[in-house]
This record gives sequence, C-alpha cells and structure tokens, in this order.
Amino acid sequence: MSEKHLEVFLDFDGTICLTDTIDHLHNLAIGDMEGKRLEEIYVAVTRGEILFREGYDRIVEALNMTWDEAMHILEETCLLDSGMPEFISWCKENGFGVTVVSGGFTKLIDHILRRNLSSDLVDYMRIEACAIEVIPSGTSDTGDSRRAKWTITHRDSSPIGYDKSKTIGEVVATVKEQKGKDVLVAFAGDGLNDVNPSQISDYVFARRNTRLSRWWESNVGLPLNTVGETEREAEGNKKWWVFDNFSEIKKTLAAEIETR
Ligand SMILES: [Mg+2]
Repeated sequence: MSEKHLEVFLDFDGTICLTDTIDHLHNLAIGDMEGKRLEEIYVAVTRGEILFREGYDRIVEALNMTWDEAMHILEETCLLDSGMPEFISWCKENGFGVTVVSGGFTKLIDHILRRNLSSDLVDYMRIEACAIEVIPSGTSDTGDSRRAKWTITHRDSSPIGYDKSKTIGEVVATVKEQKGKDVLVAFAGDGLNDVNPSQISDYVFARRNTRLSRWWESNVGLPLNTVGETEREAEGNKKWWVFDNFSEIKKTLAAEIETR
C-alpha cells in the first residue's frame, strides 16, 4: 500500500458554522444572550460535576420554539465559514471523503448546509449526527410560552452522547477495505466533544480560541503554525494547527499530503 487516501471529518457547530446553532437557540429561548447559563453548564462539565451528555440535555430541553421558527432564526443568523465551498470542492476534486460528525441534529445540519452550499457539495458530504424530535405544545391562547418540546436521541451511551471517534474508526476501516489503501485522517473542530476524535487523527485543526484549541495547547503544546522551525521539529509528530478559515486548512493539508 504505497498510495494514501485522505478522509476528512468536520464538526459542524462552531467549526463549519460560525454560530453554534444549539447554543444560539438556547440563549434565545431563555433570554440570556450573554450565554451565562451556557457557560455555567460547560464549566460544570469541565470540572466533571456533570457528564457532557447531561449538560447537553439541559441545553436542548430549554429550547421552546417550533422547528419552523428555529429554522427561520438560523437561516437569518447562521454564517458558514467562507472557505467551506472551496474546501469541499477541493476534497471532491481529489476524491477525499468528507464526513460531518456532530453532536447536533442531522436534519438541522442538512437544512443549514443546503441553504448555504450548492447541492452537489452537500450531496458529497456524509452527515453523522443525532436525531431530534420537536413536538409542538401549548399555544399563545393558553398563555403557555413553551411552544414545543425538544428531545434529543444521543448516538451512543458514551459520557459525551456521541463519541465521534467511533465513526472515524468505522469509516476508516470501510474505506481501507474498499480502496486497499492506507487512510490518513484530518479532523477540524472546536468543542470539548472534539477532544476524543482529534486525538486519533493524523492532522488536527482547532478553531482559534476555542475549548478544543485550549485543550491541545495545554495537553500537547503550541500549534505548528504559531511556532518556529526549531520548536516545530521538537513537536515531533503532533500535527495540530489553529485555524480561522477553511482556506488555511486546505493549504496546510495540500502541503502535508505532498510530503506523504
Ligand atoms: Mg462544535
């Protein structure tokens, strides 16, 4: 197996989409646009007081708008990383697989992607995420402000609700068998639930100033695009970078693949 094949795995909220869709809907639902309540939940998760999946349940349970209202809000407010069309086209041209791995909701991700990217690019991407059920409840007549109840179905029984590294392992095994080539894995993310999948990836891209970039910096060392050549050598094989735009990921990956 001389030739290597690249598989790319991308988180959605805060990575592909600059707005964290669920966090945004949560803040709107409880009227806390500064996100103080959210921060309390994430701090409790970081301290190990509650599991990530429990924190996430609390965030989702607070959502009170109907599905259509939520989609309308997100269509008006969500921005994708501007480098996405170019990045996905590049992956498609080179035959690199692209999988969106998200603790968010499959149908929400599909909706937002189709609003922002051409259908040939969206059709090229696999989406692996969670199922959501939104049941309308209460009406303005009865004075009930809760217009719908949102219930998430976690993907697995892991403490984070969806261990994305399992999907990476499955996709890599399948592709390896189908193509008869070694598979290199690139991962881009921003959150605490991206730590596991990033650890098993060959190339890691963490959005700048996020929980994921802070985790890598304190546990592994400085990102390669912020250190000098000497330090870079000292970093050995820990291939991780911070990014602000997907065009940088494309450039870095193209250069890395050249050398393999
Ligand atoms: Mg995220």
